[in-house]
Amino acid sequence: MIKLVDVEKTYFSKAGDIAALKKTNIEVKEGEIFGIIGLSGAGKSTLIRCINMLEVPTGGQVFVDGQELTAMNEGQLRKARQNIGMIFQHFNLLASRTVFDNIAFPLEIQGMPKEKIAERVRELLDLVQLTDRADYYPSQLSGGQKQRVGIARALASNPKVLLSDEATSALDPQTTKSILQLLRDINKRLNLTIVMITHQMEVVKEICDRVAVIENGVIIEEGSMYKVFTEP
Ligand code: ADP
Ligand code: ADP
Repeated sequence: MIKLVDVEKTYFSKAGDIAALKKTNIEVKEGEIFGIIGLSGAGKSTLIRCINMLEVPTGGQVFVDGQELTAMNEGQLRKARQNIGMIFQHFNLLASRTVFDNIAFPLEIQGMPKEKIAERVRELLDLVQLTDRADYYPSQLSGGQKQRVGIARALASNPKVLLSDEATSALDPQTTKSILQLLRDINKRLNLTIVMITHQMEVVKEICDRVAVIENGVIIEEGSMYKVFTEP
């Protein structure tokens, strides 16, 4: 479902160039939950943002669902990105919009008709169990509820891939568990492919099928949870 071929990302600046990601090769199969772990500054964010081209790689190729994103123009990329949802540590919700309107937002941008949007948002609210909070504003929600809205919004256009950038890092352990439970549930139910970056080992151990360990922009280890965590 996802394939990175020799992907590189260098940030150029006058103070000195930073090779955040060196020739990186990753394959994630459909329906897999793939974890990327590493210390702060290792290149996790850069890597995950290369998958949806929020960061444009300075080298290599990115394939998602059989399409090469690195070969697309802006219009093609906008369309391809509907197939890739993303959730964030600080949720990135719009404060002036209700839960309903936050989830509706990407569908409005796509130009979906109003009645269809309403129907789709109801489905999504049901999926993340927030039907009774549709008219609340983000400030009136707990952290876990905010992330549920983030998940619903990320899934609005029915993507095959969900990218998670430290999605549970701002949450307490109990809430983290419930969000991971929801992600696993969605993964199974929708056969959604999930790539998550985290610095929390417990998170990876809880739900990932495979994991890559990144250090200074290089994947130093990759494989099943068993291989990475138990073999010498
Ligand atoms: P992580 O997510 O593992 O903390 P990042 O991908 O955010 O790591 O950062 C990897 C390296 O790239 C770090 O040295 C960071 O300072 C640098 N970096 C990240 N984003 C930028 C940017 N927009 N401009 C310049 N350097 C950046
Ligand atoms: P599979 O999951 O069946 O093993 P891969 O992981 O090899 O497939 O590839 C994932 C998708 O990316 C496939 O649909 C494949 O067509 C596409 N793909 C992979 N490598 C290339 C390439 N070098 N050029 C064009 N398409 C590619």
